[in-house]
Amino acid sequence: MEATNGGNRVLILGGSFAGLYCTQVLHDTAKKAGTPMPDITLIDRNNFVLFTAFLPEMMSNQLNPLSIVPAIRRVVGGRNIAFHQTEILDIDLSNKRVTTGKSVFEADTLVLALGAVTNYFGNESFEKYGFPFKTMAHGLRLRNHIIDCLERADRSKDEAERRRLLTFIQAGAGACGLEVMTELREFLHLTCGKAYRNINFHRDVQLILAEGLPRVLSGMPEACALAACEKMQRRHIDVRLSTFVTGAAPAGWNWMGRTGSRPTRSSGSLASKPTR
Ligand SMILES: Cc1cc2nc3c(=O)[nH]c(=O)nc-3n(C[C@H](O)[C@H](O)[C@H](O)COP(=O)(O)OP(=O)(O)OC[C@H]3O[C@@H](n4cnc5c(N)ncnc54)[C@H](O)[C@@H]3O)c2cc1C
Repeated sequence: MEATNGGNRVLILGGSFAGLYCTQVLHDTAKKAGTPMPDITLIDRNNFVLFTAFLPEMMSNQLNPLSIVPAIRRVVGGRNIAFHQTEILDIDLSNKRVTTGKSVFEADTLVLALGAVTNYFGNESFEKYGFPFKTMAHGLRLRNHIIDCLERADRSKDEAERRRLLTFIQAGAGACGLEVMTELREFLHLTCGKAYRNINFHRDVQLILAEGLPRVLSGMPEACALAACEKMQRRHIDVRLSTFVTGAAPAGWNWMGRTGSRPTRSSGSLASKPTR
């Protein structure tokens, strides 16, 4: 059991945006006010915080993976905060007791900042065959998959096979979906015909952005959505509105749910909507 300290122990679970911000504000506010400093402990399975906003750029090779994961200890800086890198296994809310891979922690105040899980909207095939996009491991997996498709397409003499390998479908046109698609487009546009000399971007690559709603960027003003749509269409991204991706399968088939639309064969659907 970890040491205790007179009724003022704060245990913060999760050292990403919410947990780190809470840690800093608690500490800095007490320091500024000159009130007793709480005994703050921060726990995360990782010793880094992932700047998710740059994950699409990491996937498209614009950014080095290490440049988007500052160390938690560095962000905490000189503040008097105990950090433990360990997996949280159980949370006993009524007793404010947390079991981790390292030891058991007790607290007077518990802060839960453990994030959210990817929402597959109950569709098991997305979970099985799609590419989620929330963690560094997801970003690297998708990047490796795209590069593998490029390598195979570059070697292939079969035009249909090349096109299948280079067809990518993004389900969901929120801010994250747009970022992923546009970064992917830039990456493919930069490399096809150059690093991959047998691939012609306009002839072989198909990028489909499917959105169930009648517009993209549903949380933003209409004018932004229209401008984004036009820009994407100009950049060879096929935006399909009012179109639901209803399933994914091992051979890389994806179905567009809208009546009359044809199944599209692809190398894999990209991210399902990450929870923001
Ligand atoms: C690709 C992408 C791009 C985004 N772009 C933007 C953007 O531009 N602007 C914006 O405002 N938001 C953006 N977001 C959303 C933003 O990343 C989230 O809102 C934010 O990460 C939520 O922070 P959080 O601290 O609540 O949770 P998270 O960031 O999910 O952090 C949860 C933390 O808990 C830890 N954890 C979870 N379970 C355990 C366990 N059992 N044991 C130990 N540790 C555990 C995890 O390691 C993690 O560090 C984006 C998200 C994605 C996926």
